[in-house]
Amino acid sequence: MIENGSRVTMEEITALAKRRGFIFPSSEIYGGIGGFFDYGPLGAVLKRNVKDAWWRETVELRDDVVAFDSSIVMHPSTWVASGHVAAFHDKLVDCRNCKHRFRADHLSSLAKCPDCGMTGSLTEPRNFNLMMTTNVGPLEDSASLTYLRPETAQGIFVNFKNIYQSARKKPPFGVAQIGKSFRNEITPGNFTFRVREFEQAELEYFVPDDGHDLECYERWVVARKQWYSDYGIKPERLRFYELTEQERPHYARAGTDVEYLFPWGWGELESIAHRGTYDLDAHMKLSGKDLSFFDEATRAKYTPLLIESSAGMDRTTLTMLIDAYDNETIVDEGGKESKRTVLRFHPKIAPVQTGIFPLARNKPDLVERAQALERALRPHVRTQYDEGNVGQLYRRQDEIGTPFCIMVDYQTIDDGTVTVRHRDSMKQDRVGGDALAGYLAERL
Ligand code: ATP
Repeated sequence: MIENGSRVTMEEITALAKRRGFIFPSSEIYGGIGGFFDYGPLGAVLKRNVKDAWWRETVELRDDVVAFDSSIVMHPSTWVASGHVAAFHDKLVDCRNCKHRFRADHLSSLAKCPDCGMTGSLTEPRNFNLMMTTNVGPLEDSASLTYLRPETAQGIFVNFKNIYQSARKKPPFGVAQIGKSFRNEITPGNFTFRVREFEQAELEYFVPDDGHDLECYERWVVARKQWYSDYGIKPERLRFYELTEQERPHYARAGTDVEYLFPWGWGELESIAHRGTYDLDAHMKLSGKDLSFFDEATRAKYTPLLIESSAGMDRTTLTMLIDAYDNETIVDEGGKESKRTVLRFHPKIAPVQTGIFPLARNKPDLVERAQALERALRPHVRTQYDEGNVGQLYRRQDEIGTPFCIMVDYQTIDDGTVTVRHRDSMKQDRVGGDALAGYLAERL
């Protein structure tokens, strides 16, 4: 009998992430640095799987989306045209007493510091640009000042002509990119939810202004809903919030925020927006270069409309971790209770897909057989060989979300069969050696 435990806390997630090698604070031996994290051996694979899943559905399985990978540092004029230099601000408030710093829009009142409780200690809100700066070249003067990109999208816009001409694409078509972005967030926090260096997966989908643009936008909203559902995010913890006209930027014709119910409340994972011709127009105006589309067949020249989906890969990875987390009480046949922590990852997302163990670590024939099986499966699934106390091996694999564990025992030596144990039900199947690859392929 299995009883579901209560919802996970961020303390539990952070502790598990550290203990099992998913996520560590960056530069921890020097005391860490606020808003930066490192992905450990399992976390790096988890995040890669999340990105691969996005890439597979958004690029590889479609014939209307092409790949892109632009530089992090771009010509500084890019950020003038995009509006980031003039308007990518948060309002910053300091407490004169405890010296803590807040985003004004995160405070319920400016009367009293939420940390030290002092009345009248907060400064007036002032603008703080979130772009990180750097210098390019040997001279540190204002002419060499550039920015680390705060979003990946602009690399696609400035290359629009290069892309459609070289890829021989015509709207409707999309350009996708996954890459690092940087924002000097005033108050990073909630683990990897709000960080200063993060990865975005962005799709810029260009469509003609032929009256079908809103349908196209709706299709992308549906496609993204399907993606979260396909990779197992619980539907009751996900919502697609449609922005009102007042909530959207003036140029946007529609917008949806994809939000997940985190332990601290709803938080944005992705924004999907119909941005009109705003971005291409802005770059044409400042650069003086033509980024409109010329249709050879009809001889028509126009600026395409843009549907954008911008998802945070760190936030999505964190969501996968939180959504998969379960702490349950198991009652065995004799009525004895025990607890187990299990990450119920989708098999495609799980960093390890099969754990392979010998029944006893001191029996060389079992060890050799298990190691040989692990080597044979390695090209096909993500495997991990381990040995030790059987109960502990299962608990460890449950805690890192491995969907299947394979046990090599004495019967394996006799007839080639192995025991396959399922993470979620903890049920075990006896599977023939020849049938194993097919058995796993079907389920992974
Ligand atoms: P927020 O309101 O949470 O600051 P935003 O509306 O500024 O986010 P966008 O500019 O729409 O975010 O960026 C698209 C996506 O990039 C977000 O939905 C999020 O997943 C991710 N993202 C943005 N800022 C951060 C950050 N500081 N840390 C991690 N991911 C981020």
